[in-house]
Amino acid sequence: MLLLAIIAALPWTILPSSPGTKQSISSANSIVVASRAPINKIIAFRSAPPKRRYEVSAPIKRAIAQNLPKISGPKDMTLPLVVLDAGHGGHDPGAISPHGGQYEKEVTLAIARSIRTELLKTGRIRVALTRDSDKFLVLQDRYGIARKMKADLFISIHADSAENPEATGGTVYTLSEVASDREAQRMAARENKSDIINGINLGRADANVSSILIDLTQRETMNVSADFAKLLLRESRPNMRIRTNSHRFASFIVLKAPDMPSVLFETGYLSNEEDVEFLRSEAGQIKVARSVASAVQIHFARRLATK
Ligand code: ZN
Repeated sequence: MLLLAIIAALPWTILPSSPGTKQSISSANSIVVASRAPINKIIAFRSAPPKRRYEVSAPIKRAIAQNLPKISGPKDMTLPLVVLDAGHGGHDPGAISPHGGQYEKEVTLAIARSIRTELLKTGRIRVALTRDSDKFLVLQDRYGIARKMKADLFISIHADSAENPEATGGTVYTLSEVASDREAQRMAARENKSDIINGINLGRADANVSSILIDLTQRETMNVSADFAKLLLRESRPNMRIRTNSHRFASFIVLKAPDMPSVLFETGYLSNEEDVEFLRSEAGQIKVARSVASAVQIHFARRLATK
């Protein structure tokens, strides 16, 4: 081991240029080496062919390098890709229900998985989850992952709490720099805080995003997002409780991808006893999932028809 360490420390220039050449070396390091091993052995060590490595295909290499989640469903890359984002995770539990201590991060993951199941049943939609385990992701990585994967639609799933225990039902939020009402603004402020742990902001400030906001691409994206929000609410109403003022606007960081239609679905309130019962039950999760799957199918059918 000592010899290897010394060899590693040797400067290249003092090694002879061809094997077998005896060369007088004056450096103090080399004298130590020469006294322990013949110089041609050192050359043999240096010129040994590199060991064979396992070959990994290019797309897998890319996915590993970018740490992207796996895509489920059909292999046809022309089919739309929906990225589902289960809110919170890891050290960030999200809302904690006063009725039974249910964590929002667990409800959101269960619902996201249920939506994936329903979407895969169509056989026409590819699906990925930003997280498929109890791990923490900063908000920009959530939409960042979806953008890298070239997602056609991004749906972030939440189930927060409200001060008023009577508040009940689902709400769909889409991006706007101007919040539609105080509650939407409060909700966005609370969700955006996910990145701030012990006073350290884990999200990177992204000046580009705010300047792009006024861009035409962003406007078009916001329009498509708003259309999908309406559709999602329409498809959800027969299956679950939906608030009266159910489409709201606010500046949620997680919705800021300039070129990817995105909505945040607050599926209900963990502060409400009936909502938490519904959202943590498998039957409730399936109802939410079917509503989303139905809206997604109509959304892509419409987009295809207008192309
Ligand atoms: Zn949340």
